[in-house]
Amino acid sequence: MKNIDERICIIGGGPAGISAAMYLQFKGYRNYAIYEKLNKVGGKSWSPKIMVNGEERSFETGAIMGAITYHAVHEVEKFGGVGHYDGPNMRRMYRDSTGKEIFPFDLKKEPSVQKTMDLIKLKQQMKKLVEIMDTKYKGYDCYGHRGVAQGRYEGLSKGVDDALLPIQGINPNLKDLALPFSEFCKLNGVEEVMKIWIGPYTSFGYGYFDEIPAAYVMKYLDTTTAIEFVNMRLWTWKDGTQSIYEAANKKLLHPANLNTEVVKVERPADGTEGKIKVTLRTAEGERTEEFDKLIVTTPLDWFAQYADAREEEKELFSKIIHEKYVDFIATFEPNEGPTISGYIFDNMTPERLGHAMVYYHRWEDLKGDCPCCVYALRNHMGSKDADYEYTINAMIDDMRLCGFRIKERLYEQETYYCPHVSPADYAAGWYDKLEAMQGKQNTYYAGEIISFGDMEDTCAASRDLIGRFF
Ligand SMILES: Cc1cc2nc3c(=O)[nH]c(=O)nc-3n(C[C@H](O)[C@H](O)[C@H](O)COP(=O)(O)OP(=O)(O)OC[C@H]3O[C@@H](n4cnc5c(N)ncnc54)[C@H](O)[C@@H]3O)c2cc1C
Repeated sequence: MKNIDERICIIGGGPAGISAAMYLQFKGYRNYAIYEKLNKVGGKSWSPKIMVNGEERSFETGAIMGAITYHAVHEVEKFGGVGHYDGPNMRRMYRDSTGKEIFPFDLKKEPSVQKTMDLIKLKQQMKKLVEIMDTKYKGYDCYGHRGVAQGRYEGLSKGVDDALLPIQGINPNLKDLALPFSEFCKLNGVEEVMKIWIGPYTSFGYGYFDEIPAAYVMKYLDTTTAIEFVNMRLWTWKDGTQSIYEAANKKLLHPANLNTEVVKVERPADGTEGKIKVTLRTAEGERTEEFDKLIVTTPLDWFAQYADAREEEKELFSKIIHEKYVDFIATFEPNEGPTISGYIFDNMTPERLGHAMVYYHRWEDLKGDCPCCVYALRNHMGSKDADYEYTINAMIDDMRLCGFRIKERLYEQETYYCPHVSPADYAAGWYDKLEAMQGKQNTYYAGEIISFGDMEDTCAASRDLIGRFF
């Protein structure tokens, strides 16, 4: 029975936590609290301000862009009164690992018969992929992974015409989505498309195609989103992605409690009456509060450490893998920085772990004086992680090879990124086991793992969760 007076604890003030509170409020719930351990909301949507040439500008250390398929993010934007047409345009060029500019998709620059044939093949396979995703893999693009391993789809639609409406159906072909993306492409004779998908996938830190189930790749980069990316029709925000969640947080009845870390959770046994006790750590010390329900938006493998996790929770959450994505914002010697974003395709392979794969030049008018964010991955299934210091030095060297002399590194970080499960665990029904646990001990799981590690999938997962269980 729905009880809008029940007290609900939301752990984490990132996109998942802020949107969960918003959707609860839409359904009439008034008695919730968000706890965020940092002094800001937005989580990995983090947009620091930097003074450049006497003027303050926003930069991105985390999430940067959205697209026409960002339906749930758009609901959060609307709630907060924020738009997405005021951000800087995305612009890009390509380089090889020696720093030389290359033109892999431009027939006018460096034309050749081989390149013409390769590009024709790529175009044909892109067309084929769009067709099979709409037919053979019908239902692939709803948010979340419920039923996929059993050949079903069930969730909110990502389609432009029926966005965020519940859909479901049976399609045994969907089981193929558990395969690593590289095998999925081979199975369907579309290996060439990886040359397009790798840019917004691997260089954005989401892992390598031989290790990541196709389901994650295609749910994030569904064919509409991928085409918007190719054509650079992307959303960015003048004050950064963090501004979306800051604006929405301000409009909530109960804005997030900042600098408040959840350090312990004690729940009554499943099926028994009683309150959930949540221990909070602040600068003033620790205190415990009582709740009826819990929404966890922080990494579930971390939850298993600070909460009274059951054996089945520990077992399931121990299967979660995350990427180690390193980035820093670099300032450059005067007028010696990039003037446009760059993709370094050679560095998007496991052999080049720890090398800069992409750098983001945000403000066109700042030309070579614009601080840029540089990104690298340092882990790959079955390989030794690239050492952190090695990675930072390799990133600096890669920028130097491109001709950019770094002056200072700001906001350097490694993020817990893109939580997912292996192809084998995916095929064994990891997501259906998680679904069966939703609501046990009045605990609900949200956040990146539910669908995918981007803003849209996390906000849509919150919408789906609140819609179905509250
Ligand atoms: C470099 C980078 C680039 C990205 N680019 C894009 C992009 O272009 N487009 C896009 O859509 N997405 C992008 N993303 C991904 C996007 O930012 C994340 O998917 C999204 O922020 C996930 O939201 P979340 O709320 O699930 O998790 P998070 O954003 O990680 O938020 C979780 C929150 O929980 C808090 N927390 C953790 N433990 C506790 C605790 N015990 N108590 C209280 N609080 C706690 C954390 O401090 C954090 O604020 C990018 C991310 C990074 C790092």
